[in-house]
Amino acid sequence: ERPLMELLNVSKTFTVRSGGKRLTLSAVDGVSLRVREGKTLGIVGESGCGKSTLARVITGLHSATSGEMIFDRAQIPASGKRPKEVIQQMQMVFQDPSSALNPRATVGESIAFPLRVQGMSRKDVDARVTKVISDVGLPASYSGSYPHQLSGGQRQRVNIARALALQPRMVVLDEAVSALDKSIQAQVLNLLTDLQRDYNLTYVFISHDLNVVEYISDEVVVLYLGQVVEHAPAKELWENPQHPYTKLLLSSIPSMDPDDSTRDQPLDKDSSEIPSAINPPSGCRFRTRCPMAMDICAQQAPPPIETSDGHLVACHLYTEGSQAAA
Ligand code: SF4
Ligand code: MG
Repeated sequence: ERPLMELLNVSKTFTVRSGGKRLTLSAVDGVSLRVREGKTLGIVGESGCGKSTLARVITGLHSATSGEMIFDRAQIPASGKRPKEVIQQMQMVFQDPSSALNPRATVGESIAFPLRVQGMSRKDVDARVTKVISDVGLPASYSGSYPHQLSGGQRQRVNIARALALQPRMVVLDEAVSALDKSIQAQVLNLLTDLQRDYNLTYVFISHDLNVVEYISDEVVVLYLGQVVEHAPAKELWENPQHPYTKLLLSSIPSMDPDDSTRDQPLDKDSSEIPSAINPPSGCRFRTRCPMAMDICAQQAPPPIETSDGHLVACHLYTEGSQAAA
């Protein structure tokens, strides 16, 4: 499958003020990736690694500071205004189902609003709203319901319906099932899988929950302090993780056993150890936590190396001529 979207060396910096000083936070730093059409690219990493910023850069909610972006074989402005058609083809679904919906609008009104803005006729709007409500598995009568009358899972179905109504080709889901109970999560993930097939949707699926990402993704990108450290097909990543950070992440996956008291511990329980993206370590950004760190790691940033078909890793252990090559 050809890529629907490509990012080439995309960065996003913010200026933050601290103690009267202006500091530069590099939230996304030189990210290159491809999202294949009709597939799901998972993006994982600890909180603060730049996942949400990257999601917003991809959908255009943030403009990039530098880099190039290609959507459907055409260059799109990485910073500055995007063409309307491109904006419409990429929709986003966020975590908090309740705050995303206007509490005073009915479900039908919320879904219809962006369609009306586009100037669609009333008849077409009504038909589209009815179709997407049914496509996300809700009864037609829910069109007249208010968000507070729905459960969290139902509200998230409404948010998905609202994104679908615009007939996007790509949907970026940022922690879209993270606020839901495990059983409801599974239902919404199955719904997303069905919709992907029926609508030929391309997903970028962002989550701190590795079990969920493994379940839904075809390929996975691992982010650390705003940089891609590993990118591989999902199965390959889980069977053969190569970057020391990926290995650490996968070894800290909470068990799925409901009796295991560690199971709901967040991935980022060690967040106090994570260096800041304001003043990241020189060379490899992971070196302050890496059990394999070598002298070169402080001096040079590791370039991405393709270790097998479609498996990229940015770590000096894999660079050619490295004494430590595994
Ligand atoms: Fe560890 Fe060095 Fe690889 Fe970075 S480049 S992950 S510090 S071994
Ligand atoms: Mg986030």
